[in-house]
Amino acid sequence: MTTTLNQHTNGRLMSQNKENTETNICCSEGNSVYYKYELFNNKCSKCHLKTLSGAERIEFLEKYNPTHWKYLTYPDEMLHWYTTDLQMPDNHAFIKLFTKMIHSLNDLFNDSKHIVNILNLLYVCNYKFNGLTARQAAHILNDWKTKHESIYNTEGVSACIQHLLCGLVIDWWNIKPDYNGGIGYCYYSNWGKKPLMFDDKKNQKQIAKPVFTYINTNNKIEKQQFNMWLNMLKKIQTISINL
Ligand SMILES: [Zn+2]
Repeated sequence: MTTTLNQHTNGRLMSQNKENTETNICCSEGNSVYYKYELFNNKCSKCHLKTLSGAERIEFLEKYNPTHWKYLTYPDEMLHWYTTDLQMPDNHAFIKLFTKMIHSLNDLFNDSKHIVNILNLLYVCNYKFNGLTARQAAHILNDWKTKHESIYNTEGVSACIQHLLCGLVIDWWNIKPDYNGGIGYCYYSNWGKKPLMFDDKKNQKQIAKPVFTYINTNNKIEKQQFNMWLNMLKKIQTISINL
């Protein structure tokens, strides 16, 4: 019996057994099936890992999957404190002012300086604004949708509002299609994947900041992302609505 271990794209080890039969299957996920393997206590590597303690887990991964660190994401607790550290309270005057500005429809749709004024608000403050949480952004979106329902449903408007809000989100991995909108989810959530712990050189990777913070970046990709975001926001002024 020849068995080889292959690295699957999601970091799970797959045993490819030439004499595989149905009975050798441990479990399946999507279109992939995972096979039982003696080495893994007659389970697939992932199911086996679940039965190990923290230290056993690390030892196992180092031994059988030396590149497992590539797939490690920040632990939930670290992500929680990261977000908590940067967020501002829901009742902060900034959030109230920002909300007021995006509800000022005449300015939002017709005054070419209004987007710039909103951007100024984000930067020219006496304190550091680091962004909104996904939950805060969802709340603001829901409020906007409810108050201006027919305008929100005008073609192009929902996209602009979702871009505006999701581009401010600190904990972007928590952006959900149901709450933050499908477009916001597609562009900003990285499909809900939590940020990776390490870069290609195994150095700790910084968690990506929300796109609005890239206004003064020297990084070419970040600059492009910022400009794309800004263009999406400016599109709101090409939409004609009846106020
Ligand atoms: Zn399994």
